[in-house]
Amino acid sequence: MAPQDRQTGTDQRLRLLVGLVVVFAAGAATVSVALLVQNPVRDTAIVGAALVFLISLGFTVKVRIRIRATQHYIAWTETAIMIGLALAPTPLVVVSTGIGVAIGTALTRIPPFKAVFGVGKNMIVATAAGLVLHGTGQSISGDGLVAVIAPLAIAYLAAVVIDELITLPVIAIATGTRLSSLFYQDWDLRLTDSFARLLVVVGTVLTLRMDNRLLLAVPPLVLSLHLLYSNRVKARTEQQAWQRLARTTDALNVVDLDQVLTTAVTQAAELFSADEVEIELREGDRTVRGGAGTITYDGPAAEPTTVDGTVLTTPLEGHDRAVGVGTLRLRFRGPVQLSEREQYTLRTFASALCTAVRNAQAYAELARIADEHAYAATHDALTGLANRRHLLDQGTEQLSTRHAEGVTALVLIDLNHFKEVNDTLGHAAGDQVLVQVAERLSGAAQPTDLVARLGGDEFAVLLRGLPAPAVAAHRAETLLSTLHEPFDLDGMRISVEASGGIAAAPATGGMAELLRRADVAMYQAKRAGQRISTYAPNRDTADVARLTLGGDLPRAVADQEFTVNFQPIVDLGTGAVTGAEALARWHHPTHGMIDPLRFLEAVERSGLLPAFAEAILDQALVAAATWRDAGFDVPVAVNVSPRSLLDARFPGSVAARLRAHDLPPDSLVLELTETLTLSQLDVVDRVLSRLRDEGVRLALDDFGTGYSSLSLLSRIPVHELKIDRSFVTEMESSAEAAAVIRSTLDLGRSLDLTVIAEGVENEPQRRALWELGCTGGQGHLFARPMPAGTLLAALRRGSGGRPGLLAAPLHDAGAVVRLPASRRSATRGRNQPA
Ligand code: C2E
Ligand code: CA
Ligand code: CA
Repeated sequence: MAPQDRQTGTDQRLRLLVGLVVVFAAGAATVSVALLVQNPVRDTAIVGAALVFLISLGFTVKVRIRIRATQHYIAWTETAIMIGLALAPTPLVVVSTGIGVAIGTALTRIPPFKAVFGVGKNMIVATAAGLVLHGTGQSISGDGLVAVIAPLAIAYLAAVVIDELITLPVIAIATGTRLSSLFYQDWDLRLTDSFARLLVVVGTVLTLRMDNRLLLAVPPLVLSLHLLYSNRVKARTEQQAWQRLARTTDALNVVDLDQVLTTAVTQAAELFSADEVEIELREGDRTVRGGAGTITYDGPAAEPTTVDGTVLTTPLEGHDRAVGVGTLRLRFRGPVQLSEREQYTLRTFASALCTAVRNAQAYAELARIADEHAYAATHDALTGLANRRHLLDQGTEQLSTRHAEGVTALVLIDLNHFKEVNDTLGHAAGDQVLVQVAERLSGAAQPTDLVARLGGDEFAVLLRGLPAPAVAAHRAETLLSTLHEPFDLDGMRISVEASGGIAAAPATGGMAELLRRADVAMYQAKRAGQRISTYAPNRDTADVARLTLGGDLPRAVADQEFTVNFQPIVDLGTGAVTGAEALARWHHPTHGMIDPLRFLEAVERSGLLPAFAEAILDQALVAAATWRDAGFDVPVAVNVSPRSLLDARFPGSVAARLRAHDLPPDSLVLELTETLTLSQLDVVDRVLSRLRDEGVRLALDDFGTGYSSLSLLSRIPVHELKIDRSFVTEMESSAEAAAVIRSTLDLGRSLDLTVIAEGVENEPQRRALWELGCTGGQGHLFARPMPAGTLLAALRRGSGGRPGLLAAPLHDAGAVVRLPASRRSATRGRNQPA
């Protein structure tokens, strides 16, 4: 039911009740008047006037109690009626009651509706009590105390019961209070009160039986009793109010804002007997509204209220009045004025509420900050994933849980060439990739997994409760395969490769060891050119050092700990040296010689790559210049990290270095490894074109192992192809490997590219390759990588008395004849497709 309907419903029920009272009272009045006319009483006028006076006096002197917008009165009317009934015939008392109460209501300016109710009710009470008194107690005039008291008591009881029966429903309807709670309210006070009134009635009647004139003494007696009583009522009400205020302010003493507001609204409704209480908070645009026991509204301000009448508005501010948190509004359906005590209570309540709200708000803010800190401390700000610390904490917890179900494993995922994306497309794009990677990994993870970003382009997934260690590999596959699809960066599609390392929880060493093992596995994967590798203890020791190398890099670059060895590239047929590949070495002061696959990744990550690449290039060109000066025109091949190709300054620096060493551009070959990014990015195209334009030769390294060798070739016009070692190694045993070599050679012929086979370790391989038409070769068969000076000495020494040769020519099939000088120069020709 809408409040409006409820209001009209209430009005109708009220009117019906009061109407009934009026009808009954009118009936009683009619009968009484008729009886009075039939049997006139002696001194009707005088007795009647005295009764009227007494009753109107009794009605006027009363104790006021306010419930909501309604005032309730406890008066002496009944006492006066009872005295009247003891002295005069009932009809006269009924009529006098009507007149007396009417005068009383007029004197106290009671509104007409209530006045009519008061008159009617009291006439009914008088009639009922009169009937009971005279029906039971003819003997009221008899002797003996009991003969007087008993009928009076019974009649008085009737009067009280009838009064309550009529009054309580009306109050209940008018105030919306439950009848039962009204019935029990202050029942003790009401009972003693009724008893006291009965005593007054009995006392008065007994006194009057002694001497009628003593009637004069009744009003002072009643008045003093009244004062006593009203003081008691007041004291009781006040005490209750203070107790309730104390309870309420106590209840407000909580830190939860919702609870503070709910308590405040419902308690204030009771405390001030308000129809509606509203708290409007300044902070957060929030208004809470309700009545006793219920919250009717909680939300942003401005929703209109349905309670109109009196509104008492109190600012919610502290004692100092400095800071206000909002406004408290009490609404009543009628005119209301608070007593002084109530006003004080309201101020106290408002101030307590203000403090409570401020405390709760401060607490909420503190809690929020604490949460934020806790979140920030355990999560990665960019991706929202758990951070390294959180992963370690969670992992440690998991590993130390004694009866944890299943196997715990860690998958470490590292993006390859991520820095290229960052460097070329900017950090915003790099961030986007990381966020998307995080999303994909989270999407592919199981609910029990914990996906974390360890920093940079390194991610980790903690797998919990696996049925068996072997499942980890399968799950890692699933995780990594989600990164397969290219990433969409504002319309541009970027492929990112990733390597994964898997390790199952170790028996000892805890989470740190698990992380280390996964890390080792991941580097094993990278090294082996696999996507995923599972930790194998027997392959571990070699990698332990790698983990400690990171910090040594800056020193290594500064102290020139990096040197270069050169591995000759020879003409397979003649054995003549046609070039040399520069291979970096790290002479670590404590770890000794470290080979490139163990430090290259770290160099690329560290930001030291440009310095490293320059140092290598310099040493390579110095060597080439020395050989040249010694009469050996041996071009040097230098491996280039894909990342260097993202640096637009790279071609310029290469050209400058060539000039500085006074070398023709074609004495330098740059070996490129195929990566997807290499073919994708414009900047790489520009860098490579500029290098080509400078006259530098380009070779595609490890050919055949990459993704899309052919499509790559169409975009990056290179001069040479280097067949990966693995095909050469397997060419005798694997038809597939042989087929790759054959088709690479076909491709080289049709595009007019020089093809060099890597990893030639024995004569049969050399011969087989040569017979297939491969011109160049490199491998242990001819020479291992060696210092520049050693190579020069080898060149000078030559083979079979011929300087510049490293192997004997292939004698059979007229090899020497088949490989004239013209062919040799062709391997260095620059007749490339544009
Ligand atoms: P790569 O370019 O494929 O170099 C050839 C690797 O094969 C070298 O390993 C070489 O020592 C090895 N090798 C040569 N002949 C044989 C053989 O007959 N049998 C076997 N089993 N191996 C042979 P290394 O020196 O360890 O270099 C590894 C890789 O490190 C190189 O592979 C290259 O990708 C990279 N690298 C080396 N130096 C540099 C550098 O200065 N810059 C860059 N960016 N990468 C470099
Ligand atoms: Ca190479
Ligand atoms: Ca290679």
